[in-house]
Amino acid sequence: MHIFEILYHEFIGFWGYDQLWKIIQTQNYEALLTQKGIQAFLRPVLPVLLLIEIIRGLFHQRYSHAQYKISLFTYILNRFISSFLSIAMVAFCIGFFEPYALFKTTLSWYWFIYGYVVWELAHFVYHYFGHKVRLFWCLHSTHHAPEYMNLSVTYAHFFLEAPYADIIRTTICILLGVNPPLLFLIMFIDGTWGSFIHIGENLLKDGRLGFLNRVILTPSHHRVHHARNPLYMDTNFCNLLNIWDKAFGTLQDEKQQVDIEYGISRPMKKGDFLDAYFGEIVALGKDVYAAPGIKNKILYVFMPPGWSHTGDHKTATVVKAEYVKEHKQALRLEGQP
Ligand SMILES: [Zn+2]
Ligand SMILES: [Zn+2]
Repeated sequence: MHIFEILYHEFIGFWGYDQLWKIIQTQNYEALLTQKGIQAFLRPVLPVLLLIEIIRGLFHQRYSHAQYKISLFTYILNRFISSFLSIAMVAFCIGFFEPYALFKTTLSWYWFIYGYVVWELAHFVYHYFGHKVRLFWCLHSTHHAPEYMNLSVTYAHFFLEAPYADIIRTTICILLGVNPPLLFLIMFIDGTWGSFIHIGENLLKDGRLGFLNRVILTPSHHRVHHARNPLYMDTNFCNLLNIWDKAFGTLQDEKQQVDIEYGISRPMKKGDFLDAYFGEIVALGKDVYAAPGIKNKILYVFMPPGWSHTGDHKTATVVKAEYVKEHKQALRLEGQP
């Protein structure tokens, strides 16, 4: 295929309106009521919102090229490798683990609720370890590298993260009986919501969504998740339902007094795509190389980011505990335990 043809198809694919266009052309509007039709309708929403976000940023002179660069470069790289690996991994896990499922579920509303709760648990497990095991943080940190929030961050992922996430999420769901059609439906809803919660302040200033902030995880919660403030680090691991964050004590609301600082705590080369993509792997490699003894080398790989063989740990738990101790008085006034 000619290079321009490939680029043309990639460009068209990015906007994701081909299925919807087909429905309009054939005037088969009834198809919009099916699951496939709803997906066809919703698929172009994110790219269009992203475009509006950029235009609004330009209009208010808040747009900066650097805010989108890392995410879009990552999208382009992932487009070619990650989606293929991820689909293969989901198919493999379904085929391999389905015979061992504890029981079988069907497509009904109560199994849908059950499936969603299980999915959120599986998502929590993948995401929690993505933050708490240094090796997995190497895969997840690209998503946290951008020092701003906008819809393009949805696309910022290391190419091996999707397969890693899908092994864990699909395996847990399949073993706990979530049947594949139900799983794909949940994955679609989760993916759509998971993209939306990256909406930036340019498009939605207050991400709390009113009363919904008390019931589900909102863009505000996910902004907190992307913050490097000591109080906010390693919180809000869920995606839509907040039950597992509540259960494991990792739910954190956005505080009026604590302004969000986006990004990771490691000093980064500003706007450097390669640093955002490989920086944590390089840093881990250096720590492993410099660590004395094989035990310390292995511990660096599996302990949380910030762990040190010297005992001078800078993990999120330690940094947060120090912060809370220092700001005890102020936090108590704000109703923070
Ligand atoms: Zn995360
Ligand atoms: Zn995110």
